[in-house]
Amino acid sequence: MTTAGRSLRSLRGQLVSALLALLSLLLILFAAFWYSERINHARVENLATQALRELVREDQLDRGQSTALHLASGISAAMANADPDRVTSLVRSFLQQPNVQYVIVFDSAGRIMDGGNDRSLVGKPMVDPLADAALLATSMKLQWSGELLEVSAPLKVDGKRVGGVRVGMAGGKPGERQLKIIEPITSQLDAASRWHHRWTIAMLALLGLLGAAIVYLMEWRVLEPIRNLGRVMAEDRPGQQPATLVVDLDRRDEIGDLMRAFVRMREGMAKHDRDIRRMAYTDPLTGLANRLSFRELLDDRLLTLHASSGELALLFVDLDDFKRVNDTLGHEAGDEVLSQLSARLRLTLERLGAQSADIARFGGDEFIVLYMAEDIRAASARLAEAMIEEIQRPLLLGGKQVFLGASIGITMFPFDAYHAGQLLKNADIAMYQAKVAGKNCYRFYSRAMDQAVERRVQLEQDLRGAWDRGELSVAYQPIYRLEDAKICGAEALLRWSHPHLGMVPPSVFIEVAEQSGLIENLGRNVLEKACGDAARWQGKGGHKPFVSVNISPRQLRSGELPDVVGSALRNSGLLPAQLHLELTETAVLVDESQASTLLSRVRATGVKVWLDDFGTGFSGLSHLRRVPVDGVKIDRSFVADVLRDPDDLALTTAIIAMAHSLGITVVAEGIETEGQYQILRERGCDQGQGFWFGRPMSAEDLAAKLQA
Ligand code: C2E
Ligand code: MG
Ligand code: MG
Repeated sequence: MTTAGRSLRSLRGQLVSALLALLSLLLILFAAFWYSERINHARVENLATQALRELVREDQLDRGQSTALHLASGISAAMANADPDRVTSLVRSFLQQPNVQYVIVFDSAGRIMDGGNDRSLVGKPMVDPLADAALLATSMKLQWSGELLEVSAPLKVDGKRVGGVRVGMAGGKPGERQLKIIEPITSQLDAASRWHHRWTIAMLALLGLLGAAIVYLMEWRVLEPIRNLGRVMAEDRPGQQPATLVVDLDRRDEIGDLMRAFVRMREGMAKHDRDIRRMAYTDPLTGLANRLSFRELLDDRLLTLHASSGELALLFVDLDDFKRVNDTLGHEAGDEVLSQLSARLRLTLERLGAQSADIARFGGDEFIVLYMAEDIRAASARLAEAMIEEIQRPLLLGGKQVFLGASIGITMFPFDAYHAGQLLKNADIAMYQAKVAGKNCYRFYSRAMDQAVERRVQLEQDLRGAWDRGELSVAYQPIYRLEDAKICGAEALLRWSHPHLGMVPPSVFIEVAEQSGLIENLGRNVLEKACGDAARWQGKGGHKPFVSVNISPRQLRSGELPDVVGSALRNSGLLPAQLHLELTETAVLVDESQASTLLSRVRATGVKVWLDDFGTGFSGLSHLRRVPVDGVKIDRSFVADVLRDPDDLALTTAIIAMAHSLGITVVAEGIETEGQYQILRERGCDQGQGFWFGRPMSAEDLAAKLQA
């Protein structure tokens, strides 16, 4: 809409238009009134003049008649006395009278006896148009010729008509007297019309002023407040400081009501807005700022820092193995841990005097700290150390002590990156490196870390399709019965021979496969291959060796495990009892009940289930009662120290005793020396594997070893 169009449609425009229309209408009415008054005025003046003219005419008649009568009687007497001089002098004197135009004396034959000043006419007959009627008239005769009145009267001597006189009387101008009569009328009419004009103009001016006053009043009292309201409403943006509203809230009228209602509504909306913002910007569990609010804060800080020249550090804190807390102690405990830790982190910041630091909960067990300080590198290292120390202090959960750690990645502006997104990515990468470096420590971001991440991405790409390209193979590490050191089975271990990198250790690629989801397919392939290979193995004396296959947490979670196992057994013809599945505690404990159901189904077919890396997890021995397993594999770390560390020996002995009391087989991993073998055998460990017995080998080598 154009500005003109809008201003016409505005209330003020409409009001002004209406008032202008009203004024125009009044103007037209006044003009009509003025016109009719002018006509009346003219009519009255006309009538007065008419009346005046009548008066003048009557006067003319009177004077004409008396003049003619006097003249006729005078001349008649002069003729009776035969005094022609008297006649001439009478005619001369009458001609002198006002308005007398001519005097004609004629005889009974109609010949002119005296024509006034013109002596040449004497004796001639009268030839003018009025002459005949005058000659024939026996008494006074009045004739009009235009404005001229002719009065003729007979001349009688001794009762005998001897001729006549004709007197021509001009109409003449209205006399002063007559004029005086109509003068007040016209002057009064003029005065009246002047008065009307002034009155009209005054009325119009008054109406104009009134209109202007109405417009001004409307403008001041109604339109401006409404416009102000509209402006403020239009400027109000959710989440922004509301514009100041200048209104008179004490007004006791409808506009006042409207203003008050608006102010109330605005306050309500502002509160609502604040509530929504609070909800949208804070983490309900810890009360810390959330990711959204943190992103805005970071963008804001960076904007100021770009302008000035400051330094800033992002510390990305990720709790180590927090998942285990959730898995083993439940989600409520997990929540409690998070809120306790967030409070502690806040206190740590305060203790270090890092008031300029902002902390936010970024996701599940991730916190992020925005820190600005002098000598930012040293300051953020101190902060990271303090936070790790704080997180390490035991937490009390329902009377129990829980120990946690945290890995922290640190990146700095402007040294590592300029933009928020890149800084966050860097911090994440650095945190990941802290995890890789053994957790519970901090790492500063470096460009080399980017390469590590790139390598990881590359590795994932390479791993895709590696099985089909024949780069992956399955090796078998023999498992021995400790009692008689006889081979009883083997563990299937995946190997990757990368075309450029050579042998990639499973500790590297299994995690990549696990995180990318590739493990589901790979795991199925390993299972099929292991079953196929094991079906061909022949132990000495017809004994059938088992194969144990590692199953990743993800494979168990997908729920397809019983079907996958079933089809591998069918396809290979391997006896179910010859297949062992190795699951880590974490895999089983993620969802204990689902795991129990799935494992029960698998075990029902005769397949055995072992808990791998036993002792490293959180679970402790109590879980063994609830999860249906056939064996536990004591982790290498215990076996390694079993000769040196009495605690490890005690724990290993306890595990063996406990497992046996539950009817569970115990397998020791990583037996590298004879001493380890001997002591484990003494303590009653059932089976074992390790470099001392034999390294992982090909299926053929193992088949040969079984025959040896
Ligand atoms: P794991 O299941 O605990 O496997 C045993 C690991 O210990 C193997 O490492 C084996 O080579 C190593 N080992 C055996 N004896 C000794 C010893 O005397 N000393 C030492 N230092 N190490 C010994 P590997 O093959 O590197 O496998 C590492 C891990 O990768 C396995 O641990 C397992 O969790 C995983 N993994 C391997 N293959 C597969 C697979 O096919 N599927 C799944 N899901 N995970 C697999
Ligand atoms: Mg294993
Ligand atoms: Mg193991």
